Amino acid sequence: MPSTKALVVFRSDLRVADNPALFQALKGGHSVIALFVLDEESGRAYGGASRWWLHHSLTALAKRLCELNVPLILRKGPLAQTVQSIATEAGVSALFWNRSYDDVSVAFGRALKAWGAENGMETESHLANLLHEPHATLTKSGGHFKVFTPFWRNQLSLDAPREPLPSPESQAPVADVPASDALADWDLLPTRPNWAKQFPDHWTPGEDGARVRLNRFLETGITLYEEARDMPGVEATSGLSPHLRFGEISPYQIWHRTKRVTEQVGRDNSDKFLAEIGWREFSHHLLYHHPALATDNFQTKFNAFPWRDDAETSRLLSAWQKGETGYPIVDAGMRQLWQTGWMHNRVRMIVGSFLVKHLLIDWRAGEDWFWDTLVDACPASNSASWQWVAGSGADAAPYFRIFNPILQGEKFDPEGAYVRHFVPELSKLPNKILHKPWSAKPSELDYFGVELGKTYPNPIVDHGAARDRALNAFKSLKDNKAA
Ligand code: FAD
Repeated sequence: MPSTKALVVFRSDLRVADNPALFQALKGGHSVIALFVLDEESGRAYGGASRWWLHHSLTALAKRLCELNVPLILRKGPLAQTVQSIATEAGVSALFWNRSYDDVSVAFGRALKAWGAENGMETESHLANLLHEPHATLTKSGGHFKVFTPFWRNQLSLDAPREPLPSPESQAPVADVPASDALADWDLLPTRPNWAKQFPDHWTPGEDGARVRLNRFLETGITLYEEARDMPGVEATSGLSPHLRFGEISPYQIWHRTKRVTEQVGRDNSDKFLAEIGWREFSHHLLYHHPALATDNFQTKFNAFPWRDDAETSRLLSAWQKGETGYPIVDAGMRQLWQTGWMHNRVRMIVGSFLVKHLLIDWRAGEDWFWDTLVDACPASNSASWQWVAGSGADAAPYFRIFNPILQGEKFDPEGAYVRHFVPELSKLPNKILHKPWSAKPSELDYFGVELGKTYPNPIVDHGAARDRALNAFKSLKDNKAA
């Protein structure tokens, strides 16, 4: 008897191992066809750096699926309609996918279930990219969590995350597969100029790249993680964020491999690292309950915040984007972002705080720039983190806590390895003036080949004055509320 056909829709789960939708479809004995839809109409389009990643990730996925005899169809169009039309064209009797939790994905899941029921098709969706369902995690009073610590305590009190699924067995070749777009025709890679040319020195998108990255971290980084995770000049964090963003590795794989390796060496030092995976879960939890997290203040009192909107705004924003603020740690971070598509977490907090507090520029401008330039740009983590930095978010850093970019640089990059790497024009400066070059005498700077205003910018704002202005802006918000 000929087997029935099934369609597996890939979205933010570009992996073959521990992929419940793919695993169950193959296990059910269907002839499986895979589909990825590039939907540039519903929801937010991928940013430039994400498009670069997506191109390479789909290339890697197609290769892995080919080894299983599962053809991958690529199509452009509105998500739900495109899935329905391919399902009809291929004559499938079942649809499988892994769940995502932004509003477009939630609506997609509902629409597909209804359409499947109307058309006599089996539909099956799975929890795959988070450890727990965002909607099933509730406080004692039945609401959702707004503070990380009780959220994570709650998650840790639940059953341990399930073991990852084994890689599926290959199937017999499938006949009559609908035509696919050519990936190259999607123009996901930048040309003229190719601003991503350094990305391949840092990243290998795809499942294999994710596995290598995790192994390397568990061999070396994890022993440094607790003490050095805030030091951008030390490679002490995993660098897994883009792989997680595109679902090339699952949190279950990370969880169990980390536990196993740390237990083998007899030192379970994984709590801090796994709690960061928890922050990712928390961000998705917030996004599920607040779908407009990327655009609307979580705390509505921030709707009245006096963000700068004058002739200077675009000049200051551009200096920040280019890493030309005159504050070395800020500039190093923004240049790391541009050159590698990624930025160290501590420095994300510093540059974010600088934008919203020192420059008084709306956090949404920063969120947008990160969305376009980060290879890990994530609908949940990017918006939740920007709101955290701005003070408008859930469990946010209070607005009046203003990072001093000089002290942050001196504390977290004391030997200046990070700044010297990304701001090479300052590389000869001694540590004592590296994070505040304007404090040195011109003759001293001259000796080290630095001329402020020429080889490196003067600070675009004075730290003390900017701090006072930010505090006043915050006070006006409080006064408004009181009035
Ligand atoms: P590790 O320290 O090795 O952590 C392991 C994993 O945990 C990460 O890969 C990531 O998936 C998750 N994680 C770690 N820290 C956080 C956090 N604070 N919030 C949510 N998840 C976390 N992360 C993104 O994945 N995408 C984003 O778009 C994003 N935008 C951010 C914007 C701002 C302003 C800030 C302050 C943070 C942002 N983060 C974002 C969170 C964090 O900076 C990155 O996840 C982290 O730097 C990734 O590096 P890593 O993989 O080496 O992290």
